[in-house]
Formats: sequence, structure tokens, C-alpha cells
Amino acid sequence: MSDEIAIVFDIEKFAVHDGPGIRTVVFLKGCPLRCLWCHNPESQSFEQETMAGENGGPPEIVGKAMTVEEVMASVRKDKAFYDNSGGGLTISGGEPLAHFEFTRALLAAAKTESIHTAVETSGYAPRERIEALLPLVNLWLWDVKAPPSLHEKLVGCPAEPILDNLAFLSSRGASVVLRCPLVPGVNDSNEALRHIRRLSETTPGIVRIDIEPYHPMGEDKNRRLGRTDWFHAPFASDADKARWRTILQEWQAKNEQ
Ligand code: SF4
Repeated sequence: MSDEIAIVFDIEKFAVHDGPGIRTVVFLKGCPLRCLWCHNPESQSFEQETMAGENGGPPEIVGKAMTVEEVMASVRKDKAFYDNSGGGLTISGGEPLAHFEFTRALLAAAKTESIHTAVETSGYAPRERIEALLPLVNLWLWDVKAPPSLHEKLVGCPAEPILDNLAFLSSRGASVVLRCPLVPGVNDSNEALRHIRRLSETTPGIVRIDIEPYHPMGEDKNRRLGRTDWFHAPFASDADKARWRTILQEWQAKNEQ
């Protein structure tokens, strides 16, 4: 077993929204992006941090250095649930591809134990990393955060390398779910939605679009991390959600028939 170590900030058991079936989601701490709406701001720094406690409670240390074997010891406990539900392991973050060696070793360990694997990623990473992980990943959960014209401003990096990586994955026959965090008035214009739809229509291998409505969960965490400049947006209205569905999920419904 590999001796790679990463800072893990959460291990979520019995998760049902991050890939098929019942899953364990391992959240790695550290991300090169800075999405304005990040709902897990404690995942951005690659270091352990102290966050003020919830509701005036004791401070929390965020992040724990763990080996691949320590994480696997937790993951394999639920193997029977994965087998019965078609679930498995999902690696999330932060950005798993920024923890390349650890992610690769953890995926390889899961594969050795016949556990289904998914990686949730922004896709912002050198091509070689994605290529190296291809044989180890059953399903990619690929974020589409903003159209190219707004990407750098809203997310902190250009869209082009991410789109190139997605095209590469598609050319290799990978299965991909597009995950679209939609923030009312920020990245949900009709132009932005049509960008997502075009991607879905022109990229073989995309099996589904997940719409993820903005949630202001990050605000309290930013406050507890001592930050003063956090972002705020309203919850999506019913009209917003209906417009999203009309543009995005019609495509999906058509392809699920
Ligand atoms: S990629 Fe994810 S973890 Fe990184 S800043 Fe964006 S929302 Fe936060």
C-alpha cells in the first residue's frame, strides 16, 4: 500500500448524491481555484486550519493528515453497501487532481478491492494527470462552472484547459456527469446555460447533467474562518429553476429515452 499522505477534511459515509448508489465521499483539502460561491471555503487552503465553532461552540481544527491505508480502512467498512446498491468511493475536494499522487494511490487501492470509483473535479489540471487516472476512474463528476467569457473572473482560472481535458476524456470513452453549480444572476444567463447544453450535445460520453442550485452555506464558514469579504447571492426562485430545467433537462430527457 502506498505511503502517500493528504490532508482530508471530511469523510462522508452513506452519501447518495455524488455518484451512483451508496458511497463514501473523501474530501481532500486544497484547491487551486477560487470560485466566488464556494460552499466549502475550508477546502481551499492546502494546510490545516482553525475555524471558529458553530453557534459559539469550541473551535474546530479543519483537516487531518491521513495515509491511503487509513482512508481505505474507513472506505472498505461499507463494501457490502456498495455491492448491494451499485455504489463505491468518490474522491472530492477541494480539488482531487491537485493531490495527484494521493488520489492515484487511493483509486488504485479501491480498484484492487473491486470498489467502484468516481472523481469529482473542476478538471483544472495537467493533461498527464487525467490520462494517468483514466484506467482507475469509473465515473467522472465534472464541474461546469461558467462559460469561457466569465470563467477567469468567477472561478479564478481560464476555461480552455478544462474544456480541452473534457474533450480528451470523451475521446477516450470515459463516462462523465456534468455538475453545474448555478448561481442566480451570476452564472445562469441563457448564454451560460446554452454553453452547458452545447457541451452536452457535442461531447460523447456525457451521461447526465446535474443542476446544483446555489446554497449560501459558505457564508457562515467564511465568517468562522475570519474572512470578511465573502460572496452572497439569493436562493434561486422557482422561475430560475424552471428556466434552467427548460434549457438543460430537456436535453437530458431526450437522451434518457
Ligand atoms: S473548485 Fe470547488 S473547492 Fe475549489 S474553490 Fe471552487 S467550489 Fe471551492
